[in-house]
Amino acid sequence: MLQGRPERAVKVMPEPEVLNLPLRSRRFVFSDVSVEDGQRVSSGDILAKDPNNYAVPLLAPRAGLVRLKKDENAAPAAVDASRGGGHIIIDDVANLEEHADIAKEELEHIEREMGAGGIKRYKLLVLGAWQFFYDAYTGALPDPQGTPQAIIVSTVSLEPFVARGDAQLHKRLFNFTRGLEQLQSLLEYQPMYLVMPDIKSELANRIRDHIRGYAWAKMLEIPLTYPYDDFAILARRLGLRRDKGPVWAVRTEGVLAIDRALTLTKPCTVRIISIGGTGVNSPAHIKVMPGYPIDKIRDTYVSEPAARMIDGGILTGEALGQEPVGIDTECRGITVLGELQDREFLGFARPGWDRSCYAACYLSSLRKRFRERFTTGMRGEGRPCISCNFCEEVCPAGIMPHLIHKYLYRDLIEEAEQARIDLCVECGLCSFVCPSKLDLRQEFIDAKKLIEQEKEEIRQEQERQEKLRQEEAAKRSAEEKSE
Ligand code: SF4
Ligand code: SF4
Repeated sequence: MLQGRPERAVKVMPEPEVLNLPLRSRRFVFSDVSVEDGQRVSSGDILAKDPNNYAVPLLAPRAGLVRLKKDENAAPAAVDASRGGGHIIIDDVANLEEHADIAKEELEHIEREMGAGGIKRYKLLVLGAWQFFYDAYTGALPDPQGTPQAIIVSTVSLEPFVARGDAQLHKRLFNFTRGLEQLQSLLEYQPMYLVMPDIKSELANRIRDHIRGYAWAKMLEIPLTYPYDDFAILARRLGLRRDKGPVWAVRTEGVLAIDRALTLTKPCTVRIISIGGTGVNSPAHIKVMPGYPIDKIRDTYVSEPAARMIDGGILTGEALGQEPVGIDTECRGITVLGELQDREFLGFARPGWDRSCYAACYLSSLRKRFRERFTTGMRGEGRPCISCNFCEEVCPAGIMPHLIHKYLYRDLIEEAEQARIDLCVECGLCSFVCPSKLDLRQEFIDAKKLIEQEKEEIRQEQERQEKLRQEEAAKRSAEEKSE
């Protein structure tokens, strides 16, 4: 019972006059900009690509005039693609008919090389639907030409305040089941698992009726407890081993995007996101497009004068900067919390009265069920670990966060690896329950990155040594021959 949970109904935001498309999102950096300043673009045109992620495109959601140069009157503006920052502005926005930016010669070439299956994958990529795919274990974008061992489709979204699957499915069940059929046509014999909140519900029966005879999906019911919808946890639960090949994962909005790209050959430029949290006057789901000005959303929905806006949910989201400009291509929701600027009056006397605490030593444990109200207040400063074990009790990965924290604190990276830091799914529950307010999640994300970097450096060094050895051997054999 959280205050600020978004309603299921979807509201459509008014058409924007300007779009500010960020060149960076959680996974992508669109550094390869393909438009020029002053160029007129149509809806669906490719504006930029991410060269490190199979060239996924940033599409123009609306027709308009591109502005790349820095405009003194419109701060902060322009493109800084070299550092992966900045954004592309589209002025003079018009909602004209969209088109697919697909070169005919390219399609013919792909058909010759890879057949009809190759064309489908290519369409998913250039029409913006591939961006909705994840590697279940790493969260990265999978190779569009790869072969998965299985696909997980999830209609469940359990993190508080992010867009829910049932809101996405509202009035679009037919598109969803058609998208499932299209998804299955990409597979040969690999299984597809459809994750539902209740496999006996009316919705599940309707989906079964729709797809009967066209697609085959094994339905899987999961406990509605965060984070059992996490793709890595689902893959482990299904017994899909990481060393047996990639597991693709996609959410409801991804299946709808597949349908749009493959059935209608139209670009996927609209998203349904949530706007929720205690700083919002009427929490809802809203239909917007990437680049939609965040200040327009703030003016319409945010009631709190001092509010912190978070891109994503309350446990894994990232605070938006002081001047957030436009929605990025991967946004799933905006959470708004009241920013506590002053110390709470008599805060020490009522800790935990308006939100329940994992430790049952606060006043809230005396209350019956109540609507919790989150704020940004931490109620106290960070402290050393007190070995209460709460983090271990809640960790869905079955690891010991407090132990790993102690290893990392002493720079014992190898020990942290042996304690299986790699199994952490970055759900944030350990940080949430920690009475010492340790940001364990962020600590583990940073450590995992460091470990990956070190492994990559070792791999590159080994490759370099091997190459040197081969060159030496070749040189020696050439010398022997000449003698
Ligand atoms: S260590 Fe923390 S962030 Fe990682 S899976 Fe466990 S509870 Fe989640
Ligand atoms: S919850 Fe925090 S204080 Fe308790 S054992 Fe874990 S890290 Fe230590």
